[in-house]
Amino acid sequence: MSPLLQVSALCKTFEVRDGLGRKTITAVRDVSFDIARGEALALVGQSGSGKSTVARILCGLEPASSGTVKLGGARVLKHARVPRSYRRRVQMIFQDPFGSLNPVHSIGHHLVRPLRLHGTTAAASRDAAAALLERVGLPADFIDKYPHQASGGQLQRVAIARALAVEPELILADEPTSMLDVSLRVGILNLLRDLKRERGIAFLYITHDLASARYFAERTLVMRSGEIVEAGPSHRLMDEPSHDYTKALLAAVPNPRRHLTDETPPHTSP
Ligand code: ADP
Ligand code: MG
Repeated sequence: MSPLLQVSALCKTFEVRDGLGRKTITAVRDVSFDIARGEALALVGQSGSGKSTVARILCGLEPASSGTVKLGGARVLKHARVPRSYRRRVQMIFQDPFGSLNPVHSIGHHLVRPLRLHGTTAAASRDAAAALLERVGLPADFIDKYPHQASGGQLQRVAIARALAVEPELILADEPTSMLDVSLRVGILNLLRDLKRERGIAFLYITHDLASARYFAERTLVMRSGEIVEAGPSHRLMDEPSHDYTKALLAAVPNPRRHLTDETPPHTSP
């Protein structure tokens, strides 16, 4: 069986103003990787290394400059317009929980819309939305609340519930915990891990926290200046890094091998 996602020779350049002239920035250079069904793959690297650009291309927010993407063996993202069928299969969770929900709509609205698009009847959609909220650890009465009435951790749970509404095969999670209070991070990460196990969802997990990559993802890719410099099983890569850049990333964090479950009590929801 082919991998769920196959990314081959992906490149992305941006034309930017440079004084009076223009210059070309290569944000992603010849990036190739696969993600198996139900697998979590971490993408780590310093700020500016091109991680978000990869995710934005894969969720159809940005066209690639060159390269190919296959989902379930079939070529996708060939055209600027991304078909609804692709959006159903691949969902994204963004870094900023406040920016990813529309303040004028209730939390229920954010969930009912994808549920309806996915075929849930109008009559069943309210119960389905409540069930999604419950699954992500929020009370059912959140359905009538508005984004400004929820905390960052709660909103990130709503964003996860919204992604789940269409029963995706792959979730692209771009630093989903980095804007949250440290005490809330492991709770969100454990929720994603449980969903992965329970529903067989694959993840591209972007982070600069190597300990969380080791905890959540079977394999890790290390990206520097748009290129993959090292790839391998997360444990091996962190215990025996071979590339100097990976060693430097590991040296920059206090304890990359710490056990995340030890640092905060479990179930500190929200
Ligand atoms: P990361 O997520 O690893 O921090 P990004 O993918 O956001 O990195 O950015 C990679 C590089 O591409 C950076 O140099 C960034 O400035 C540049 N870049 C990203 N998006 C744009 C854009 N829309 N226009 C111009 N440059 C961009
Ligand atoms: Mg980024």
